[in-house]
Amino acid sequence: MRPELEASLLHCRNLPSPPGVALQIIELAQDPNADLGATAHIISMDAALSARLLRVANSPLYAGRRRVDNLAQAMTMLGLNATLSLALGFSLVQGLRGHNGTAHEQERVWRRSVLAALAARLLGTPAGVQRAEDLMLAGLLQDIGRLALLQAVPDEYAALCARAADNDALLELEREVLGADHAEVGTWLARQWRLPSYLVDAIAASESTPEDAFQRCVHASGVVADLWLAPADPDGRLRERTLAPVRACTGRGTEALDDLLVQIAAALPEISALFEVRISRPEHLQAISDHAKELLILRNLREIQEATQARHDAQVSEERMRRLTEQSRRDPLTGVYNRLQMEEVLEREFATAVALQHPLSIAFVDLDDFKRINDQHGHLVGDQVLRQFAQTLQRMLRSTDLIARYGGEEFLVVLSHSNEAAATRVLQRILEEVARLPMAVVDGQSLYVTFSAGVATHDSAANEFSDARSLLQAADDALYGAKREGRNRVSQHGQ
Ligand code: GH3
Ligand code: MG
Ligand code: MG
Repeated sequence: MRPELEASLLHCRNLPSPPGVALQIIELAQDPNADLGATAHIISMDAALSARLLRVANSPLYAGRRRVDNLAQAMTMLGLNATLSLALGFSLVQGLRGHNGTAHEQERVWRRSVLAALAARLLGTPAGVQRAEDLMLAGLLQDIGRLALLQAVPDEYAALCARAADNDALLELEREVLGADHAEVGTWLARQWRLPSYLVDAIAASESTPEDAFQRCVHASGVVADLWLAPADPDGRLRERTLAPVRACTGRGTEALDDLLVQIAAALPEISALFEVRISRPEHLQAISDHAKELLILRNLREIQEATQARHDAQVSEERMRRLTEQSRRDPLTGVYNRLQMEEVLEREFATAVALQHPLSIAFVDLDDFKRINDQHGHLVGDQVLRQFAQTLQRMLRSTDLIARYGGEEFLVVLSHSNEAAATRVLQRILEEVARLPMAVVDGQSLYVTFSAGVATHDSAANEFSDARSLLQAADDALYGAKREGRNRVSQHGQ
């Protein structure tokens, strides 16, 4: 890049810069210790961003999976890496749009970027590149160099854009007049922003014919976007030109391009709504020959059938896996979670509660004088009491609460979104229910038990704990207090 251009970029006061939330996400993406809790914390600060992530998680891009209705579920479904990529894309688009007098040009860049994001993502499958969200982000950001130029040298660059008939002509003009093309400028900007290196590399290679499969998808996505956005393609030249890059990444030509265009048409309404750009369907693409359309419909039908079968197979094996995993998580006697599983779940619930600032209560519940039941009636009756007791807990709690058998006759209950008063009320109600409900019948005689419970609550408004372990310790202390005060009661930590 020419030193003068770099200087005017560096000294450009309005050079697009990532909004605060994007900067935090960039930092997080480079942190090997980043986790969903920390990510949730950053994302939840930005209501619009949270709403978009929720929407994308429920969009046709992830069709077939369970409906998600809160940020934590969306993030769990997407996974950390996909969440980070999507969040970075959304926050950059939100933060970088529409600043100066070149709004019209900027809008054109965004239209191309959003189309390219979608195309790159869709090309991933036939190209055998798994990282759908990374592809989407790279597709989206490949033209940030154009945004930078529109800010740094607005009049000069807008004039170049007006003169250039297509992307190739624009690249040539950029090199001739500015001494660097927008891929170079974009790479420079991506480095300045400290974007992850795969993005820097993809932007650098976006206007060439790269070797790398990921970069090839990004390059092809830009060419496909140009085809889509072209006002007309009377002699089919543009379409012809698009075939080579599509073939380079999928190994197929016409067929792959037709598929891609059909898929773009299907997903575009949702994507353009997500990114708030208006992209219409070009006339010249509706002129895909009837023959091609018929072939496409036939193939799609077959693919849908195959996909339905594949999905069914996947569901069956997923179900089998789920059952196996579920078994290793459960206590065989009572069917509630085991201690190992609970410790993992509690860590996660705690991180989410801290990040999203909702209260989290836990309670240790220990049967009173249980040893006597074993001693008087034998172990088998003791087992039955434990089973019946676990069932009673389950019945009396909400389906979102979690129960684990923590040790012999000791259970741990996790009540998310419950403050101390609410959690104590729930436990008190269970105590009353257990008092009137026999846990076993021996020789025609009903057997009753009582329990002692210790409640502890993490609550950013009242009593904060530093980690899940100290919350557990507090509940254990409270339980000890309940035992000391005579059993058959619910005690709260610190009282
Ligand atoms: P406290 O009121 O102080 O809690 O008295 P406790 O008798 O309930 O407590 P302790 O810890 O002294 O005894 C717990 C008993 O639970 C001892 C153990 O034999 C019994 N136990 C532990 N696991 C099982 C089990 O799986 N089945 C049966 N039947 N008994 C069990
Ligand atoms: Mg006991
Ligand atoms: Mg005990």
